[in-house]
This record gives sequence, C-alpha cells and structure tokens, in this order.
Amino acid sequence: MIIGSHVSMSAPDYLLGAVKEAVSYDANALMIYTGPPQNTRRKPISEMKVKEAHELMQRHGICKQSMIVHAPYIINLANCLKPETYELAVEFLTKEIERVKELEATYLVLHPGSHVKAGEEAGLDKIISGLDEAMQNMGNVSIALETMSGKGSELGYRFEQLRYIIDHVEHGEALSVCLDTCHIHDAGYDIAHFDEVLREFDRIIGLERLACIHVNDSKNIQGAKKDRHANIGFGEIGYQTLYHIVHHPRLENVVKILETPYIEEHPPYQQEIAMLKSGSFDEQLQEKIKQGVRL
Ligand code: FE
Ligand code: FE
Ligand code: ZN
Repeated sequence: MIIGSHVSMSAPDYLLGAVKEAVSYDANALMIYTGPPQNTRRKPISEMKVKEAHELMQRHGICKQSMIVHAPYIINLANCLKPETYELAVEFLTKEIERVKELEATYLVLHPGSHVKAGEEAGLDKIISGLDEAMQNMGNVSIALETMSGKGSELGYRFEQLRYIIDHVEHGEALSVCLDTCHIHDAGYDIAHFDEVLREFDRIIGLERLACIHVNDSKNIQGAKKDRHANIGFGEIGYQTLYHIVHHPRLENVVKILETPYIEEHPPYQQEIAMLKSGSFDEQLQEKIKQGVRL
C-alpha cells in the first residue's frame, strides 16, 4: 500500500524535513505545499534541500511519484468577476508547475475553482482557459484536479464536471484526478457503496487518470456540501468503508494521502496509517494520539 499524509515543508529543512516527517509516520508517500497554502509567497526551491530529500526518499523506498504537491487553495481559476484574481491564479499556477519540476515531483493537486456568482458553465469555461494559459510547458508534470464537496460555488463536485474540463483543455493528456473521500461523500456520492462509485468514476473519467486519493472521514452526512474532514473512523464515512477503499485491489498503485485534522495539536498520521494497514479500528485512538502513543 502506498500511503502517507500531508506533511509540512518549513524552515530550516524544507523538503528534507517533510520527508523526515513522513518517515516518522512509517509512510511511503507524502504531500506538501510549496509554501503557506493560504498565500502565494514562495521561497526559491534551490533553498529547499531537494537533493538530500530525494536521497532520504530513496533510502526509505519512497518513489518520486509518491511525493504529491498541493497548490494553495486561494488560487481560483474560475473567478469570472475579478480579472485580477483569475490572472493571479494563472500566473501562480504557471510558476507552481515550474516548482513541481524543480522538486522532481509529478503530481500537482489543484482545486478546480469556485465560480463565485457567474454560474457553473461560465466557471468551468474560465477554468479551461486558465489551464490552457498555465499548461504551456508541463514536462512530466500532471495537474490532478481534485473532486470537491460543492461547498459554496465550488466546481468539480461531479465527475462529469472534471470530464468536461479534461475534454476541453488543450493539453488534456497532462490532467489527472485526485479523489477526496470526504469531498465525494459531502458532494452526495454514496461512498458506503464504493464499488459503484468507482465504476462510475471509471465510466466517466477513467481509472487510469486517478493519480491519488485523499483519505479523510467526514464530520457531515452524505450530501451535506460542507467539507469538514474528520479523523479515520470518527466521522460519517466510518472505518470499514475507508479500510475497503485503501485496500481496494484496483487502487493498489494509487497514492493515498491522509488530510485528517490534528488532535490537540498532535498529528494523528502515524496511528491512522498503522490502523488502516492493520485492519482493526482502535476506539481509544484519540486518547492515544493525545498522549503521543505509537501503535
Ligand atoms: Fe485539496
Ligand atoms: Fe483533499
Ligand atoms: Zn477538504
């Protein structure tokens, strides 16, 4: 199983620190932001200890495709009302693609965008023109469009919307998809019958485009359109369904990333990864995480 979590990439060790954090969770995958997710200030990649990080990854059997980059969530390609927001998004995304290359990563996860008040069709078309502008020089990089919960005016909450983007972008071959379990549940998909959801994904998007899975439980009921992540087994999706997903034979080679919330300032990832691997749900997990107990 290829599984890891969101890890932080901060001074002084940057990417090397991120890989060390992943290793401390017994993970063989990781996801990073190239800087604070809520803003666009970025340090040069040359200062981020990329070479040392890749050496450490190699020593722990973490392959380059298992290092996922997430674009900051403030960039909104679908904004039709404020040209400056759209232009900033295109400019930032273009530079972010270059940073992904420098980090020697492959997948850049992107929230497609929110149409604000312009309507879904206009928003989707704006995303397509934004991607066309930004995707001129992709190299080996693939942008993984994330399935969204549909909160507010978010787009990408139906597989059909992602398909529409893929079909209309000039370089559709450089697009893939990141499936977020909390988001699809909140968007209304019946994740308890995951095999059916996966069949629908395959029919509309194609399983070969699935780059990574964000494994999160949800604080809200199916269709709530809220997007509030819960710890594994402590939400409305539940442990059994998430276990089924991460062990699904058709998803064996797909990278799984946890984005579950910290518990009293402690990252839960080492324990949640252990629990998902082992197949048994630990009811006292939250207590153990608070006390920093390794499973
Ligand atoms: Fe995301
Ligand atoms: Fe996500
Ligand atoms: Zn989310």
